[in-house]
Amino acid sequence: MKDDTMKNETHVKKIPLPFIDLARQQVEILPELERRISEVLRHGRYIMGPEVVELEQALAEFTAAKHVIACSSGTDALLMALMAKGIGPGDAIITTPFTFVATAEVISLVGATPVFVDIDPLLFNMVPEKLEQTIKAMIENDTVGYPLPKQNASTAGSAELRPKGIIAVDLFGLPADYDRINAIAQKYDLFVIEDAAQSFGGTYKGKRACSLAELGCASFFPAKPLGCYGDGGAVFTDSDDMAERLKSIRVHGQGSDKYDNVRVGLNARIDTLQAAVLLSKLKIFPEEIQARNRVASTYNEMLTDFGSGLQIPSVPEGYESVWAQYSVLAGNAALREKIQTTLKEEGIPTAIYYPIPLHLQTAYAGLGYEKGAFPVSEEMAERIFSLPMHPYLEAKEIERICRTISGYKGER
Ligand SMILES: *Cc1c(COP(=O)(O)O)cnc(C)c1O
Repeated sequence: MKDDTMKNETHVKKIPLPFIDLARQQVEILPELERRISEVLRHGRYIMGPEVVELEQALAEFTAAKHVIACSSGTDALLMALMAKGIGPGDAIITTPFTFVATAEVISLVGATPVFVDIDPLLFNMVPEKLEQTIKAMIENDTVGYPLPKQNASTAGSAELRPKGIIAVDLFGLPADYDRINAIAQKYDLFVIEDAAQSFGGTYKGKRACSLAELGCASFFPAKPLGCYGDGGAVFTDSDDMAERLKSIRVHGQGSDKYDNVRVGLNARIDTLQAAVLLSKLKIFPEEIQARNRVASTYNEMLTDFGSGLQIPSVPEGYESVWAQYSVLAGNAALREKIQTTLKEEGIPTAIYYPIPLHLQTAYAGLGYEKGAFPVSEEMAERIFSLPMHPYLEAKEIERICRTISGYKGER
């Protein structure tokens, strides 16, 4: 008898937890999802069907943005935003190296040059002072001592890369400091794009993510806070002019009709079926945002109570994160590895966002940044890891995760 109970306990303990549980969410939305998908199958308008228009209206209402242009992915949303701004060779776009590669990739895709600025060690977002110092360094030809990309053949001759815009990233679902970033941008006549791929649903001083800069870009990749069942994204703007350009870029640069091409564009439409999925999920999204915040608070309390020795995430006054990731810092890389291994043995998955900052990636070696250029990003890459996070994570599951880490008390 006794033996059996013990076996059972060990067995229960090791049931693997998902990192993100989309199955539990599906149970919540299934009737609505089936109704909406059937409706698309019935009308058969698979490209730019009525659900796309309905989704754009719902997203505009949710964020209070004037225009929403739904599109094929978060990456395409960023690309469309840069294209709408007419960015190309010789232009510099400033962002951080501690982000998903897509943020910098789109800059390179339009022929422009990414220029990096280091992040804050508590918030993981761009530091406004460093942003301004970098802009000054570019204008004054690197006399301020800030690391700048090497001038390559395509920009040689011109001493300068022209700083044109900023892509601020809302990492892990926490908005960057847009009051300060927008003010700096205005001072130097730059535009701001909000990479809200992880923050759709978050808020900054009472305003929703995606509406915090001239152009906001969301991703609806399945693992993001609001995800579809495939790829999807959207661009948000209050500018009528930008909205018109973005709609044209989304469909091959179309003008008055689809055989009138007024600019070079893309095929970047969202599928009607994905719009139907998003409409079903949007209904429960406000409750999910609350649930995500409850999960994060429970983690914060339990990691502290169990003496995990981990640095828990900070959310400044006036901000609300949507917790795309719940990321913590271990004392060092070796300790992180030990903790991740222990969790894995208990069936608890973890992930590292991001193990290599972009300035040290092979693809960006051509920019000529050296190790040490962005010390905070480099240190975070060695210490950070993310724990399971989704709105359906229960207190007893969080407790199981935190207890597993409690053995590391004091080890830093
Ligand atoms: C996911 C992500 C993107 C790209 O979105 P996709 O929909 O996957 O193309 C861009 N930037 C950041 C910060 C992201 O996390």
